[in-house]
Amino acid sequence: MPDTRPRRTFAVISHPDAGKSTLTEALALHARAINEAGAVHGKGDRRATVSDWMAMEKARGISITSAALQFAYRDHVVNLVDTPGHSDFSEDTYRVLSAVDSAVMLVDAGKGLEPQTLKLFRVCALRGIPVITVINKWDRPGLSALGLMDLIQEKIGLRPTPLTWPVGEAGDFRGVLDRRTGDFVKYTRTAGGATRAPEQRLGADEVGEDDLQVWRDAVEEHELLGLDEADHDQEQFLAGRTTPVMFASALQNFGVAQLLDLLLDLAPAPGGTEGVDGSVRAVDDDFSAFVFKVQSGMNTAHRDRLAYARVVSGTFERGMVVTHAATGRPFATKFAQAVFGRETTSVETAEPGDIIGLVNATALRVGDTIYVGEPIEYPPVPTFAPEHFVTASAGDIGRYKQFRRGIEQLDQEGVVQVLRSDLRGDQNPVLAAVGPMQFEVVEDRMTNEFNAPIRFNRLDYQLARRTDAAGAEALAGMRGVEVLQRSDGTRLALFVDQWRAKVTARDNPDVMLEALPAGG
Ligand code: GDP
Repeated sequence: MPDTRPRRTFAVISHPDAGKSTLTEALALHARAINEAGAVHGKGDRRATVSDWMAMEKARGISITSAALQFAYRDHVVNLVDTPGHSDFSEDTYRVLSAVDSAVMLVDAGKGLEPQTLKLFRVCALRGIPVITVINKWDRPGLSALGLMDLIQEKIGLRPTPLTWPVGEAGDFRGVLDRRTGDFVKYTRTAGGATRAPEQRLGADEVGEDDLQVWRDAVEEHELLGLDEADHDQEQFLAGRTTPVMFASALQNFGVAQLLDLLLDLAPAPGGTEGVDGSVRAVDDDFSAFVFKVQSGMNTAHRDRLAYARVVSGTFERGMVVTHAATGRPFATKFAQAVFGRETTSVETAEPGDIIGLVNATALRVGDTIYVGEPIEYPPVPTFAPEHFVTASAGDIGRYKQFRRGIEQLDQEGVVQVLRSDLRGDQNPVLAAVGPMQFEVVEDRMTNEFNAPIRFNRLDYQLARRTDAAGAEALAGMRGVEVLQRSDGTRLALFVDQWRAKVTARDNPDVMLEALPAGG
């Protein structure tokens, strides 16, 4: 029987170190603890939900790849799609954001709005994804709550509408005032460890002597906020004009249950999605999904290749034969998997909002649509303007075959953009990246996974503009510019600097030179 409970599909966006991994684990463990009431989970379980798998990720302490975490909470199923934190992986992160219905913006109370948070927020704004803000690490000294609200308003242009307000300043966390009920949610240190919510709900008249002074301060600020039109408005939130705010300590588990409740109560459910032809596929239509990420090398024991797809409409049933929109060919889904971090299990059915992993999906590329019934094709996942360019060549010419296969694979996964031209020939593709760390990933995977050492030569180009066949012809032979073709067919004109791009555009008004969306 398909599990048709309502879904919530979201991602956490944050600057590295804001506490995303800590929060992710706390959310999953809390939901699990509720579901398996009385069960005790130790440290070992905590690790099992961690989604980073590459040795390199461990060494760097960052999460490079994305996976989805699914858990049941109350009468819902929650899908948390993991995003990598490092700015060099922004392309990957942007793709992931195409698969969610809402985002949780995690802010370090001591640091305020950091660059990566701002970038990611802009993508959410661009895509109209509603954002819930969580001010984390309130157990540590940090900025003032009102100061943080000003920052959100000023830097991201969203009106903050706090749902809770801290009782006690950062570093002296007594709990929060629930602005909807007026209750005091008191922070308590309980013995339950990581799986227990250390929260106790008290009426305003039950606030203890010790907390009375800070409680009164919180009430005063809460009333000020009310005058300032900072109360939650569901319509404004869904329209991307306001952001509900709550205060938490992911490490202490405080606010974790509140956040889950908030997601269920306020965050949007999966909805109908528009195809490239403008038609809308409703969630209860026939099955359709789009691929937002392709990955391989998760299991070194055997070669595997996983395409992550988000179900848009209908019920997915393992074994069903779907149509691959890009080729019109049938695609068998016998080996569909649920992808929860390191663990993979077969998935029997999935509903709109869920993420499925399709094994050995060699034909599937990022952005592809699969469907049954009436044809549908969803808009491509955006690619971003590359700013770093190298030529790649096989480090060991005897292993050229492996080199070529590796490049092709990494291209299909979208690890880097691969550009070619007749002039340069096939043996020395140009690799283009939004951030230079993408090249490190290429080097690491080429060496360890494909056993094909690779050599890079830096190119002096700094930016790319989209052009067409006529543009390629017109620009051929000009100084400071080179036109190459990306594997998706897009022609990119690479320029040595901004100045050269401007002059070329001025002198060649008929040549198409389009800016690409800015990435990292
Ligand atoms: P990520 O890079 O965003 O995934 O951040 P992590 O979850 O790895 O957290 C970074 C560091 O901040 C770790 O040392 C965490 O223990 C710590 N941390 C996370 N949340 C909190 C919190 O609420 N309070 C305090 N004091 N530390 C936290």
